[in-house]
Order: sequence, then C-alpha cells, then structure tokens
Amino acid sequence: MKETNKAPAPDLMDKIVALSKRRGFIYRGSEIYGGLAGTWDYAHYGVALKNNVKAIWWKRFVTDREDIYGMDAAILMNQKTWQASGHVSGFSDPLVECKKCKQRFRADHVKKVPADPVEHGLIGKALELKGSIAYWECEDCGTTNVVNTRQFNMMFKTNVGAVEDDDSISYLRPETAQGMFVNFKNIVDSFHPKLPFGMAQIGKAFRNEIAPRDFLFRSREFEQMEIEYFVKPAGWEKSFEDFRKEMHAFVGDVGLDDKKVHELEVPDGERAHYSKRTIDFEFDYPFGKKELYGLAYRTDFDLSAHAGMSKANLEYYDEETKERYIPHVIEPSFGVDRTVLAILSNAYTEDEMGGEKRTYLKLAPSVAPVKVAVFPLLKNKPELIKKAREVYEALKKEPAFGGAVEFDDNGNIGKRYRRQDEIGTPYCVTVDFDTIEKGAGVTVRDRDSGKQERVPENELSKYLSKHHTI
Ligand code: ATP
Repeated sequence: MKETNKAPAPDLMDKIVALSKRRGFIYRGSEIYGGLAGTWDYAHYGVALKNNVKAIWWKRFVTDREDIYGMDAAILMNQKTWQASGHVSGFSDPLVECKKCKQRFRADHVKKVPADPVEHGLIGKALELKGSIAYWECEDCGTTNVVNTRQFNMMFKTNVGAVEDDDSISYLRPETAQGMFVNFKNIVDSFHPKLPFGMAQIGKAFRNEIAPRDFLFRSREFEQMEIEYFVKPAGWEKSFEDFRKEMHAFVGDVGLDDKKVHELEVPDGERAHYSKRTIDFEFDYPFGKKELYGLAYRTDFDLSAHAGMSKANLEYYDEETKERYIPHVIEPSFGVDRTVLAILSNAYTEDEMGGEKRTYLKLAPSVAPVKVAVFPLLKNKPELIKKAREVYEALKKEPAFGGAVEFDDNGNIGKRYRRQDEIGTPYCVTVDFDTIEKGAGVTVRDRDSGKQERVPENELSKYLSKHHTI
C-alpha cells in the first residue's frame, strides 16, 4: 500500500466538502433554495461525529471532574445582558467595501497592497492623506481600494413578543459565556462550591460574520463548548496553565495531531475587550494556520459588569479568609465546528490499494461515526445474511461501541469497504462460508492497512474493544 502525498490545499478543501456531501456528513444550509451563506446542515454521520466530539469534551471537563457544573442556558437573553457585557457597543468587526463590486470584507483579512495613485485615480485623496494612506485589493474583482473602515456589529437582532419596540429587542447570543455569568449566583446558591470552580456549556452561537468562508471554519451559526472557571484573583495564573495543558489533552482525545496545534500569545491591543491575557490555539488547516480554540483570562470584567447593571450581589463569600470579592475568570473556549473541520482535514487520506486509488478518513475510533460495520460476504445468500445479522445485533448491544455499529448488504463487498473507508469506519467484519460451514470465525478488516485477520466469533467483541478505547 502506498500513501500518496496530500493534495494541494485548496483542492483538498473541495474534496473534503465533496466527501462530506456525498457520504452524508454535512450539506450546504437551505441548499435547494440556493443556500444561505454561512450556514451548514449536519446529516447522519456528521451529527454522529459532532456528538462524539461533544461527548468527549463533556466527559473530560464535566463528568470526570468534581469542580465543574453543567449548564444549558437559553439562547435568547434579556438585552441588558449584552449591554452589560459590552457586546452591544463593542462586538464588531472592521468592515471595508469594494467601491467597484460592492463586496464586503473584514478589514483585517484583506490583502494590503501598494497602489499607484495615478493609475487608480486616487491622487487627490492620496495627497490629502499623505503618508498614512493604505490600499487593499478586492479578492473578488481585483480593484484597488483606499482603506476606509467602519465598524459592523455582528449580533443578530430580533424582537421578543408581539410588540416591536426598543424594549422588546433581543439578540441571538454571539457566545455561550454570558448564559453562565448570569447564572453564577444561582450555581453558588444551589451547590455552595468552593473556589476555584467552573461552569460548562455546549450550545449554539450566532455571529453575522462579514465574510463567512472556508466551509465550517467561519459560519454565521455554529456551536461552542465553553468553560467559565472562577478563581481567587491571585490564583488565575495556575488555573490558566492547568487549562492550557487540558486543551492540548483534549486535542489528543479527538485524535488530532497535537503537532498541528500552535499556541499564539495574543499581544496587547489585539485582545477582546474583556481579556488581560489570551492564547489562541491555532491549527494547520488546509487553508493555513488559523484559530481553533482560545484561552482567555477575563478577569472580573463580566461578573462586575453584570453586578453593576443588574444590581444583584455577585460577590463570593470566601469562608477561609472571611472576605467577600468578585472572583476572576479563566475561559477555555472551543469551537465544535472548527474541531469537526480539523478532524476531517486531518483524517482525509488518499492512497492506492490493490492497484486502485482510494480515499479514506483516518478517524480516531473515539470520533468515528461508525465504529464497526458488519457484512455478509454475498448479498443474496440468506444463510450468510442470517449469521451476519446475528453478529451485528450482538455488537450493537455492546456498550463499548455505543450502538455505532452498521449492517450493510448493499452492492458488492468491494463497494461496501470503499463506503466504510470514506466514512472512516475503523473495522469491517465479514461473515463468509467458512464462518458458517467450518466455524472458522469472521474476518476483520483494518481500515488503514486493508489487512484482514480471522477472529473467532467469541473473541470478536474483545478484539474490537481493544482498539476502541476512548
Ligand atoms: P476569529 O478571530 O476567527 O473570528 P474569535 O477570536 O472571534 O475568532 P472567539 O470569540 O474567541 O473567536 O470564539 C471562541 C471560539 O468559537 C473560537 O475559538 C472558534 O473555535 C469558535 N468560533 C468563533 N467564531 C466562529 C465562526 N464564525 N464559525 C465557527 N466557529 C467560530
């Protein structure tokens, strides 16, 4: 078997998008109506993959710990939440518009170019602005424009109730974090936790991105997995370091290569308004090194702001020191869809097997939508089908595979292998005539090597489980 080099990057993205559609992972949102920019619909295998990512995260950060409480807050929140948090006034991106084709872009994402003022008819303006002038090139039509930025608020606005006035305004949340901050006091009153402790939430977030792009990477509706970890003000650095390590460990849990994850210390002036320290975790996507996750020290910014706006007392009473104070916050923030995209692009592989080109997803068993597939060798032999269904039904009940077991008797066996390879199924089990006539066990085919081994039926579950530890 020969593993060929990965395809060049842009081509690779097209292939990942095509495979996602062909095999029922992810479709364009509202496709039959021509789509809706920045939205994607997850189908059967995509949902399974995404659910695996979320379950692994929840296990590591909530169920396996004693100090983090789960939340699932409402998406719609009182508008005062977003006034207090600074999002109404400050959650905006710099926008530029091409004077020719009217396309809009994020000013910090466009290509800055030197311009010939005469050629571009900019001479008056250029003289006016002297040395400070900058130009950018429209990536759609190639026109050179003068940089002329305005701020664009990215929150989706709506009205709650039958009356449309200023009091009924609400927003689709642009981050899950605020649903936790506004419940800080409730959690303290219900559980009486000692500092440090945290809250965790997985849920949808919405941002009216100026230019959604790169498949799932930048969309207008996406999911986040966030933790707000409350600490004593003097203890933030230790918790920050602990989560930094935990974030790398999670990357490994979902089968991503940690060597493709790079930390970027975000400098002063480039951090979000609430942050005193931020590390971006960047991933080597096919289109470049881009943010996968973020880890921020949010200080007491949010709790203090909500205490001020709501007049609720959000101080914590520290029984050890007999002091009252507003805790500080460490926030590890994970994008679900950026994780799914990293997993797909990390896993997409082309090679040659048996003299034929093949494509497969080298997914870690922990995230694979199907852990094992079971086939009868031939599709129209009732005795093979009967036995294969027995094997399938037994595996389906095994807790180790969580029901992620598939039966397939469509088409010829070669086609079935190809299909399972493309959805990333680590193992295919086949029932053949030796299974039923000689009691010779089943064959187990390994996705990556294509090698087949005969395994006695009563050892099958043990054999497969050995390879399926999360
Ligand atoms: P970017 O600079 O790429 O716009 P950001 O720094 O604004 O991202 P955060 O506000 O830190 O992102 O959001 C936390 C996480 O949510 C990100 O690390 C990312 O995984 C995810 N995320 C943010 N915006 C999007 C989006 N438009 N589409 C998909 N995921 C997103």
